[in-house]
Amino acid sequence: MILYDIAPQGKRVLIRVDYNVPVKNGKILDDTRIRESLPTIKFVTEGGGVAVLISHLGRPKGTDKSLSLQIVADHMRDNLRVGVTFIPECVGEAAAKAVKSAKPGEIVLLENLRFHNEEEGNDDTFGKALAGMCDAYINDAFSVSHRAHASVHAVVKHAKSACFGFLVEKEVTALSKLLSGSYAPMVCVLGGAKVSDKIQVVQNLLKVSSHILIGGGMAFTFMKAQGKKIGKSLVENDYVGFASECLASGKIRLPVDFVCAENIDSTKTQTAVGEIPDNLAGFDIGKDSTFEFAKPLQKARAILWNGPMGVFEKPQFADGTLSIAITIATSGRTGAMTVAGGGETVAAINKASANFDIRDGYKHISTAGGAFLEFIEGKELPGIRAIEERNESKA
Ligand code: AMP
Repeated sequence: MILYDIAPQGKRVLIRVDYNVPVKNGKILDDTRIRESLPTIKFVTEGGGVAVLISHLGRPKGTDKSLSLQIVADHMRDNLRVGVTFIPECVGEAAAKAVKSAKPGEIVLLENLRFHNEEEGNDDTFGKALAGMCDAYINDAFSVSHRAHASVHAVVKHAKSACFGFLVEKEVTALSKLLSGSYAPMVCVLGGAKVSDKIQVVQNLLKVSSHILIGGGMAFTFMKAQGKKIGKSLVENDYVGFASECLASGKIRLPVDFVCAENIDSTKTQTAVGEIPDNLAGFDIGKDSTFEFAKPLQKARAILWNGPMGVFEKPQFADGTLSIAITIATSGRTGAMTVAGGGETVAAINKASANFDIRDGYKHISTAGGAFLEFIEGKELPGIRAIEERNESKA
């Protein structure tokens, strides 16, 4: 079953969205996730149905009004011109009554699912209560689909019908295509702080890519495995063996020069070539590395990027990441299938877009962090699997 099979006319459609947005001083700082959910919502409302939205926000311990989704309803009305009725409950009589009385074309947003422990506990009764209010269920929250929580998992078997929304379809299609091995050469760019967070990512990507370019703090564990001096740079000694095994594939490319400093707060930087002196640590890849990395990226038919090349939050260590962000976007504009994901990576693309927008050079920018990584690790995501299994058994 796909979204187009729902025929929303006259139906109440429960849509799991991810409105876990960054909030500061009562203002939503980035509403990308809300905007990305609009196509599925409009499909339901413009098709004559009621869109009943459910989401979590933050990590409340029980009811916590500072994490109420009221703020999202207000933002949608004031900034996106989308009228939404907010209901201060997500299950129970009041919620059911509000859902029942909504008219075709209306949008109802229910209160934060995580005010109930049953959500994270994947409680069956809670899932049944959510499903029971509506005639159909749509999962449009890829970014929470790696968790077996009630609103993406338990709910599925109780819903009258279940399918994915446009956003989940977009994420799954882009990532599956990339991992299918059908693009050659495919080049992956991995960075960020630690190797230990990305072991399965590296293992899985080695199977489908021709090169993996490694920057960021991760690179130093690989350099140590090559017997090179890394000074005071970040290293995970327990993973040097793993790094050696990966290097044996011949597919790993490492930086050749580094922007170094005595410590992360220092603005006095020096470039080190090949190895790093004992008194310094590497906090960004150098210019020559960006040129070396650009060579395979310019020839790639597909590029997958996760993780910054350095401490890009600090201007003195940002150039490597911003330069790679632009190189990947340029390859995307000239035809490569370019996909990026992960919170820091998306922040880096946005930062690189401050002077001129490079986002159109990315065929897909994932809204997910953990779910994105687990998908590229080759894991099955419980929220995705639940719907696939249900629909396979009904086929
Ligand atoms: P991750 O969440 O693993 O993708 O790591 C992202 C973080 O890694 C960013 O906040 C960067 O500041 C940090 N990072 C990147 N390169 C380095 C480096 N060479 N040394 C220390 N931290 C780094």
